[in-house]
Amino acid sequence: MELNNKRVLVVGLGRSGVASALFLKSRGARVTVSDAKSEEQLREQIPTLLDAGIAVETGAHGERTFRNQDLIVVSPGVPIDAQPIVQARALGQPVIGEIELASQFLPGPIVAITGSNGKTTTTTLIGEILVASGLKTLVGGNIGTAAISLAEQATPETAIVLEVSSFQLETIRSFRPKVAVVLNVTPDHLDRHRTFVAYVDAKARIFENQQSDDFSVLNADDPTCVELAGRTRAHVFWFSRKSEVESGAYVREGQVTLRRNGSEQTILSTSEIPLKGSHNLENVLAAVCASALMGCPSEKIRSAIVNFKAVEHRLEYVATIRGVEYYNDSKATNVDATIKALESFPANIHLILGGKDKGSDYTELNDLLRQRVKSVYTIGAAAEKIRSQIKGTTEIISSDTIESAVKQASAAAQAGDIVLLAPACASFDQFHNYEHRGRVFKELVHQLATASNKTASAQEPRK
Ligand code: ADP
Repeated sequence: MELNNKRVLVVGLGRSGVASALFLKSRGARVTVSDAKSEEQLREQIPTLLDAGIAVETGAHGERTFRNQDLIVVSPGVPIDAQPIVQARALGQPVIGEIELASQFLPGPIVAITGSNGKTTTTTLIGEILVASGLKTLVGGNIGTAAISLAEQATPETAIVLEVSSFQLETIRSFRPKVAVVLNVTPDHLDRHRTFVAYVDAKARIFENQQSDDFSVLNADDPTCVELAGRTRAHVFWFSRKSEVESGAYVREGQVTLRRNGSEQTILSTSEIPLKGSHNLENVLAAVCASALMGCPSEKIRSAIVNFKAVEHRLEYVATIRGVEYYNDSKATNVDATIKALESFPANIHLILGGKDKGSDYTELNDLLRQRVKSVYTIGAAAEKIRSQIKGTTEIISSDTIESAVKQASAAAQAGDIVLLAPACASFDQFHNYEHRGRVFKELVHQLATASNKTASAQEPRK
């Protein structure tokens, strides 16, 4: 794509919008950026853009700004049915997203991962397996570094591992991953995609430009993924934790097994996987398929998995204090993720629940609360609603804050128990975001550990 002297408008100043604007400018384009937020809200981003010679429009999207552009790059946070974008399209102006832009400047093979849950974990794991196998690898997209920011370093030999969201897929044109992974598709983001069908259609676009020498990796245990297999031209590899598949990865007698071209290889035992939960087994199986298709040898795949640490805030092990294990799953911001977290421990859980409600139905937790949870500690604005919906399932303690919750849970827990933060809610009532909530939780646990070590050493008999 030739950018020199082209008029390009970037809409939306999130991380990928800023990165796109700077990239486009560095390639000689005449760049304008437009964001509906106020100048005050964008005060961190604006100086860098102005310094680079980029025109900045804030407060609203001016109709004229969208006219006479050679290219419009929309951020994933901006709905594509927003009025100025619809108009620009009607005038025949090309509208693409940042992933599309990036893919035109990423000459190496792309592994793209999408799905409703597990994207970050699987993307990170695939990245680590590729690195362990000695491949030149860059990881980005919806996590960490914007895909366009990888363009400077990427060579034709560089493997690119990208987490892509359904929003990012809505604005592709020629994006063609060598390996496209769809982990699962469950109802999510229906506020923006309106219907489940539209959401599935957005996810399916990951295959749109794949050809018969590419690969699609799909979850054989997920009915929507099974339907999606009919929509790809690429060679399909399946993963399943429930049954054996003809081509792909599955579990046989506790062994993760890869079957390819009729021959089988044992990769590792499920007991060697350091991540908790059957959902993480699915992520591992998907990563095995994708990395094998990228040519990684099985012993490297195994060693990278064995050494993998949970991504921060995703069922992340924090510490063991007096025999009690503490886990941080602050990323469990919906009921489904909390169910997955509870399913990862057989019993004796002390669960910290609550935050900002997203209109969820917490009664879906009730069976697991009855079976596996010793007590629930409610925090945040959703506490009252949660308490009324889970009443009678187990002991419920009103903690109000995360500080009290950790204190009360640690006082109640006995050796062998689990203290789990998997709040099923957004964090914005008491925290900046889920990362902040997770860090506060971990800090409280580390303080407990320090206090407990001091007590233990004070009680040691003097020699
Ligand atoms: P994403 O990037 O898709 O949000 P993450 O890896 O960040 O996925 O995990 C988000 C939440 O979903 C975490 O609470 C995690 O424990 C849970 N989770 C991870 N993988 C899966 C999966 N395959 N199926 C269902 N839930 C999952």
